[in-house]
Amino acid sequence: MADELARIQLQIRACQRCALAGFPIQGPPIFSGHADARLMVIGQAPGKVEANTTHQPFSGNAGKRLFRWFKQVGWEEAEFRAKFYMTSVTKCFPGPNKSGRGDRAPSRKEQQLCEEWLLAEIALVDPEVVVPVGKMAIERFFGRGRRLDEIIGGRYQIDGRIVIPLPHPSGASAWIQKREHQVLISRALGHLAVVKAELGL
Ligand code: SF4
Repeated sequence: MADELARIQLQIRACQRCALAGFPIQGPPIFSGHADARLMVIGQAPGKVEANTTHQPFSGNAGKRLFRWFKQVGWEEAEFRAKFYMTSVTKCFPGPNKSGRGDRAPSRKEQQLCEEWLLAEIALVDPEVVVPVGKMAIERFFGRGRRLDEIIGGRYQIDGRIVIPLPHPSGASAWIQKREHQVLISRALGHLAVVKAELGL
C-alpha cells in the first residue's frame, strides 16, 4: 500500500487536469501523510498560505482554528501532522473569489476532476477514522442538500469507517460563530476524544 500510495502521490503532484480544463488554480497540489495513518482529515481545498508558502494542509488562519479544536481533543499540531493524513476534495488552491475577500469555491467539475485522487488516497490509506471538514467534504459522505446542523455533532459509521464531521474553521464562517453551532462543534470534538481513547490514536 505504501508503494502504491507513493506512486499515486507522484501522479497527484504532476497533475495538470484543472489547468488544462481552464480553471485558474494556483500553486501545487497540497496534502500530507503516509499509508499507515489511522485517521484522515479531508478539507475543501488549500488556501493561499498553503499553496504559496507552507505547502502544508491547514496551515493558514483556518488551520490555526482547526488545530485549536484538535488541541481540545488532546492532539498537538506537530504530533497530529506526523501521525495522520491530511488532504482535501480538490488539492490545488482555486484562487480568490470574485469579491477578492475570500477563496473561490472549487466548481463541481474541479471536484470531479480531483475525485480519482481522493478516492485513491482513501482506499490506499484505509483510515479507521475520517474527519470531513466543511460542507464540500461532508457532502461526499452524506450527499448534497443536508443541513450542517443536522450532521455536525454526530458520530457515524460509513463504509466501515468512523466519520466525525466538523464545519469549515474559517474565521469568515458565520456558521461557527453561532452559540448553538458551537455546542455541535463541542459535541463533535467530544466524539473525537472518545474515539482517540477507544482506538489509542
Ligand atoms: S485540483 Fe486535483 S485534479 Fe485539479 S489540478 Fe489539482 S490535483 Fe489535479
